Amino acid sequence: VSDELEADLVVLGGGPGGYTAAFRAADLGLSVVLVEKRESLGGVCLNVGCIPSKALLHSVAVMEEARALGNRGVEFASPDINLEQLRSWKDGTVKKLSDGLSGLARRRKVRVITGEGRFTGAHSLEAGSTVVRFDKAIIAVGSRPATLPFLPADSRIMDSTGALALEEIPERLLVIGGGIIGLEMATVYSGLGSSVTVVEVTDGLIPGCDRDLVRPLERRIAKRYESVLTGTRVTGVEALPSGLKVLFESADGTKTEVYDRILVAVGRQPNGGLIDADKAGVSVNEHGFIAVDQHQRTNVPHIFAIGDVVGNPMLAHKATYEAKVAGEVAAGMGAINDAKVIPSVAYTDPEVAWVGLTEEEANSRGLAVEVASFPWMASGRALTMNSGDGLTKIVTDAQTHAILGVGMVGSHAGELIAEAALAIEMGCEPGDVALTIHAHPTLSETFAFASEAFEGTLTELY
Ligand code: FAD
Repeated sequence: VSDELEADLVVLGGGPGGYTAAFRAADLGLSVVLVEKRESLGGVCLNVGCIPSKALLHSVAVMEEARALGNRGVEFASPDINLEQLRSWKDGTVKKLSDGLSGLARRRKVRVITGEGRFTGAHSLEAGSTVVRFDKAIIAVGSRPATLPFLPADSRIMDSTGALALEEIPERLLVIGGGIIGLEMATVYSGLGSSVTVVEVTDGLIPGCDRDLVRPLERRIAKRYESVLTGTRVTGVEALPSGLKVLFESADGTKTEVYDRILVAVGRQPNGGLIDADKAGVSVNEHGFIAVDQHQRTNVPHIFAIGDVVGNPMLAHKATYEAKVAGEVAAGMGAINDAKVIPSVAYTDPEVAWVGLTEEEANSRGLAVEVASFPWMASGRALTMNSGDGLTKIVTDAQTHAILGVGMVGSHAGELIAEAALAIEMGCEPGDVALTIHAHPTLSETFAFASEAFEGTLTELY
């Protein structure tokens, strides 16, 4: 027997995009059905992404701080790691939040269906034994880890979900992919005691970010990790009882090494191809992405798409922003996606964060820009926090002087970047930031100091 439900709006996928869109539309008066194949709401971000990774990163950051205090006259014994307790604390944090989401859905009368949904027509979809007939739909099915075709099936080869499951602390870990996800998990495992190698096919870590912002991270990693192989490709893995034998190729030739575990973090693949979108008439490109307009509408005007499935950057805060636009447009409001910038943060040690145009991007596009930086070595607060290797950098339009991009590396850069995002959205020039009084001594001053450097008004205040 199949259940039949009718709704003004069906939302397919209960990640940060999907639940936000469902909640916003319900708050605006629509009857909403939310279809999610996992048992819990929250998507990749809450269950196997942003939140569990940050829970673990926080724990290893505290351990690293404690270790660093050894040079400052406070010595702790080396940490005694109870993996089971660490794992259950992380899982408990996730459960608290996903239970919270279920409560928020109930309070709004959003009906949550657990099952894998597929379109059966332009106004209907099926999830398990449930048929949902809808007026409008929002596709928020997210993405999954990309893989490498030559990898053998072996439980010692993990994707990010496997790495977050924290089954064991391998003695030697290879991380394939030097992007944000790979480096965050490398930070976790290195902090827990693994000997980590990171291999990246491009010339540097965190492709897409300016090199001067990545350098402080590279310097710290060089001391902590076994090795970082850039410009190097993994071309084969052989599963042996004694370990995973990996073949590397670079301009210097080939070599093999054996590791206890491998984390594959080579990017993410959108899920647009897995929902029978064609039955609703929605176009999906060959990679699985769904194109949308500024109202988040697909080529079918009553069907919207948001989050990872519509394109890069694949970030939770982009998904929730788009979700509000789609939810509001579905409810008849005139919302539009006109975000100027989306901040990116690597929660590594040190953190690396940037928003808007990078200097490299400006140069490659031949734009006339001006750049000023402030090294954290001259920030009193940064030195008290052992973060003197940080940097804050501003890119402006040479003609209008408007701030186009800001990058930061150092402690709490991920928190500090928010002020820069606001400055860009508000059309600020460095002079506006310089004339805004920043509390002393804070790391936020580094943005004001970099702005003063621009204006030629910098007088150091330690
Ligand atoms: P998802 O979160 O992928 O949610 C989609 C949901 O749809 C999933 O729950 C899935 O089960 C469900 N679904 C898919 N197909 C169907 C179907 N047919 N029927 C029913 N349900 C379906 N981003 C950040 O901004 N900050 C971070 O710190 C960060 N850290 C990350 C760390 C890791 C390890 C990973 C993997 C990702 C991280 N991300 C981070 C990225 C972030 O998780 C995603 O950008 C975000 O989850 C995208 O949200 P979404 O709603 O588009 O999709």
